[in-house]
Formats: sequence, structure tokens, C-alpha cells
Amino acid sequence: MKFIKAKSLLSKVKYGNEWYGIDYNMNLYRGCSHRCIYCDSRSNCYHIDNFDIICGKENALYILEQELSKKREKGIVGIGSMSDTYNPLERI
Ligand code: SF4
Repeated sequence: MKFIKAKSLLSKVKYGNEWYGIDYNMNLYRGCSHRCIYCDSRSNCYHIDNFDIICGKENALYILEQELSKKREKGIVGIGSMSDTYNPLERI
């Protein structure tokens, strides 16, 4: 697994919680290796180079702590809309 530094992690969902019942979204990884044929995240429209190579966001906890401290609205956080949060590479 490669590692990258993320600029942000937690994003407000544009369509309110009608989008899968979540208010915020975050991806702990960039990319996914499962190659599901129905995967929208692999679409070129997202401009993610080498989507099949999983990159861990090495500063994720620091950024999440910073971003959560600034949020004033409580909400449900969805994880893994464009990655697998339970990444097989983390299996011990
Ligand atoms: S992001 Fe989800 S749908 Fe896309 S390849 Fe990974 S597991 Fe499959």
C-alpha cells in the first residue's frame, strides 16, 4: 500500500441525508483494488489516476480531529463511498 497526505477528509453531502442517509462522507483511502464491474468510483469522471492502487491517507486521524472540532452540525458520517474502508491490506 502506498501512502499520501490528504488535504481534507470529511465532506458535507450535497444532497442532504437523502443520499444514503448520511450527512457527511469520508474515505480513509484513495483507490480500491476490488475492481467491481458496477463501481462508479472507477469512472474517469473523477480523475483518479491508478484507482486500483490503494493509497492510505497517512494524516487521516490528524485531519479528522481538526475537521470534527470545527463542525457545528451533528450528523451521520458515511465511510468508504469511493473505497473499501475495511481494506484487505490491513488484515493481520
Ligand atoms: S469502491 Fe466499492 S464498488 Fe468500487 S471497486 Fe471498491 S468495493 Fe467495489
